[in-house]
Amino acid sequence: MSVEENPEGHPPASPLTRIGEARWILLTALCAALAAVLLFNVPFWPAAATVGLMTGVAAFVPRRSASRRVKLNTQREIRRMWPGTGMKVTVDALPTPCFVADGRGITRYVNAKAHAIYEGVKPGDPLSFSLRAPSLLEAFDRVCSSGKEERISWIEKVPTETWYEAHIAPIYMPGSANSGRTHLPDFILVVIQDLTENRRLERMRTDFVANASHELRTPLASLTGFIETIQGPAKNDPEAQDRFLAIMLDQAARMRRLIDDILSLSRIELKAHVRPVTVVDLSEIVRHTADALSPLARDLDVDIRIDLPDGPTRLRGDRDELIQVAENLIENALKYGSSGKYVDVSLRLIDETESAPMWVFSIRDYGEGIPAEHLPRLTERFYRVDVESSRALKGTGLGLAIVKHILTRHKARMDVESEPGEGATFKIYLPALEETEDASGNAPHH
Ligand code: ADP
Repeated sequence: MSVEENPEGHPPASPLTRIGEARWILLTALCAALAAVLLFNVPFWPAAATVGLMTGVAAFVPRRSASRRVKLNTQREIRRMWPGTGMKVTVDALPTPCFVADGRGITRYVNAKAHAIYEGVKPGDPLSFSLRAPSLLEAFDRVCSSGKEERISWIEKVPTETWYEAHIAPIYMPGSANSGRTHLPDFILVVIQDLTENRRLERMRTDFVANASHELRTPLASLTGFIETIQGPAKNDPEAQDRFLAIMLDQAARMRRLIDDILSLSRIELKAHVRPVTVVDLSEIVRHTADALSPLARDLDVDIRIDLPDGPTRLRGDRDELIQVAENLIENALKYGSSGKYVDVSLRLIDETESAPMWVFSIRDYGEGIPAEHLPRLTERFYRVDVESSRALKGTGLGLAIVKHILTRHKARMDVESEPGEGATFKIYLPALEETEDASGNAPHH
């Protein structure tokens, strides 16, 4: 059952309450009537009827008490001044652009974030001056007329494709005539969120699954084809069977490399925000990796030239992961730069006063190089300059993506320089262990 409200937003008072409120006037009238009957011989019934009539009027005629009038004026004042300082500083602290408008679409307040993004927006202007997306303005009008919150999303194509989502919520002031939520809202709050980054990550994830399945499907199809051939046409041909089995082994190895790289990537992603604490020696890692790759270098007829500093080259890092970084980069230099005959691997310290000391690990080859347009995309998953040559050299297209993730975890970065025909240089900048730090492997206590 709904309680009907008077225009001031209060439930109607009962007759008894009203008589209670008028008790002093009624008592005075009663005393006057008694005095008139006893002292001035006024007839009893007319006097009683007068007091009865006054009580009836007091009980059933609605009145606006002075206190209620004051309350009503205060509420009006609150609505006129809303939002107050407390509300404003709170809304200013929010990380997303927020707009407060009244029911006619006039801007009441814009928070600091909205000011920074929507230039020239100010209270008093129609909201449509700053927010132009038609679907947003239509949703705003619907909330004004229905009083029901809405969530909408839209894309803006200019200057770059950006995805937005807005939450439009009605605001009912406490004690307002509309607080029963059956009338129009007093104000509307519009909160806008930029979802571009989320959408980009979502798209990356789905692209990754699609690419990974595609990469696995090709060797799988080849395996299935050869199994069918061995079972059918080549059933009695041991020579062909031997040839096919060698190819099948190759395809199975390719699938294993892919799965290993995918798992490696997801393991590193899981640890992305945990910084390694153990202290490792970078020279030892580089030497170890170059030794491990020397058979490949010999096969490709490439000479690895190593230039390492004499002293310790310590930093906080994960040894296995840093070996993976060095392995991927030196192996790429050997494979894709084999025509250059040399791969130079060096390590040096840059210790400039204005920045923390850094180890620069550089891998240079003298091969074909990488055309400039490919450089920004090299660390994308499955991105390859030439898919066929990568596959022929047992590449998965995930090596540099793994390197990038490991470097992020180590607060390190990578630069790639290349001139087609002149080879490529991959430089890794890793934060060195500071002298003040405890070299035993424990992070300093602050
Ligand atoms: P892959 O497993 O294919 O080697 P990576 O992520 O390690 O994948 O490398 C991505 C692509 O970058 C390679 O396919 C190759 O085209 C290119 N690339 C990487 N290193 C070099 C290099 N030193 N010289 C020329 N191209 C390179």
